[in-house]
Amino acid sequence: MTNMIDALRARFPALQQQVNGQPLAYLDNAATTQKPDTVIQALLDYYRQDNANVHRAVHTLAGRATRDYEGARDRIAQFINAASRENVIFTRGTTEAINLVAYSWARHQLGEGDEILITELEHHSNIVPWQLICKETGAVLKAAPVKDSGELDMAALQGLLSSRTKLVAIGDASNAIGTINPVAEIITLAHKVGARVLVDAAQAMAHHSLDVQALDADFVAFSAHKMYGPTGFGVLYGKTEVLEQAQPWQGGGDMIETVTLEESTWNALPYRFEAGTPNIADAIATGAAVDFMQSLDLNAVAEHEQRLLQQATEGLNAVDGLRIIGTAPKKAAIVSFVMDTAHPQDIGTLLDENGIAVRTGHHCAMPLMARFDVPGTVRASFAAYNTAEEVERLIDSVHRIARLFA
Ligand code: PMP
Repeated sequence: MTNMIDALRARFPALQQQVNGQPLAYLDNAATTQKPDTVIQALLDYYRQDNANVHRAVHTLAGRATRDYEGARDRIAQFINAASRENVIFTRGTTEAINLVAYSWARHQLGEGDEILITELEHHSNIVPWQLICKETGAVLKAAPVKDSGELDMAALQGLLSSRTKLVAIGDASNAIGTINPVAEIITLAHKVGARVLVDAAQAMAHHSLDVQALDADFVAFSAHKMYGPTGFGVLYGKTEVLEQAQPWQGGGDMIETVTLEESTWNALPYRFEAGTPNIADAIATGAAVDFMQSLDLNAVAEHEQRLLQQATEGLNAVDGLRIIGTAPKKAAIVSFVMDTAHPQDIGTLLDENGIAVRTGHHCAMPLMARFDVPGTVRASFAAYNTAEEVERLIDSVHRIARLFA
């Protein structure tokens, strides 16, 4: 395993640096992962050789750009086992994908008295769009509570599901405290009452394979930058039947079939929802990220990350005055904690002085922070390239910080 991880790490240029005189221990992967050589190379190759706008021109560069851009769509469709490439809509990321569903689907499908069900675990991007849509449509937003362990209260969730529920929007894993939700079970329950389901898979993609058809999700949103790909790029997967119900939300080039000065008709899926010149380079680089992920043994990666999580959990639990927020039995490789004596921001700053990158704050999950009555936490999150030595450095440094503030 160590040799395999050494070889893997060698492919990530950003991991080779020192920060504040120490080798970088990058433990902020839930925010964004580092990028392997092939993803960076794909970006360079596009801008150095193939740069042209896609879909329209007949010249050679435009042909290459279009081939690679649409090739990325095919690779992503295959990676998530979408029934067709028409189900894969390119967006700026998870946030835009969820907003696309909110504005082009929910806004037209929901009315007075309908309900959208989320959970207390959600990222702001899976809360705020629904608040906006509820204001416009008169629909009501409900949230299933979490238990003290950070697990979803499934009995309460079931109690909130009814024939009024038109959409259940739920994260696969909490970015703030790591809880993995029983998404497949929730989809089955939601479909029984006739609700559609959107899965926020932002935290899922780098850690396990996702088969959208087996899951039977209606919509799935994710970001490339959390799965070793570029920033500002992501995907909305939608079943054809729900995408056909949705109305275009941004008008412009590429999304139309015909335009007169009076009216327009729409392009086929998925282009109907992709107005304007797209993010060509980042789409192609996301194709490279998918190739990278497919070159990994994802089961072995998941086991490795879970070992790091266990090591971190045990080590941090032994620190005086430290409390881990989120102790669900099924967690993504994320450990979130607070200390009696030190503020998360101070802990984060001191860890950075030791070359250790973690995230501090509310992690775009303010309702969840309120639920646990903390202003924020320190969060360490692990990826395929992290090592037991890095986790040991984290634990040692936190022990030292605890002594400093005692
Ligand atoms: N949902 C979850 C669970 C996330 O972790 C994130 C990113 N922190 C998002 C949504 C938003 O992703 P993006 O900022 O890439 O749109």
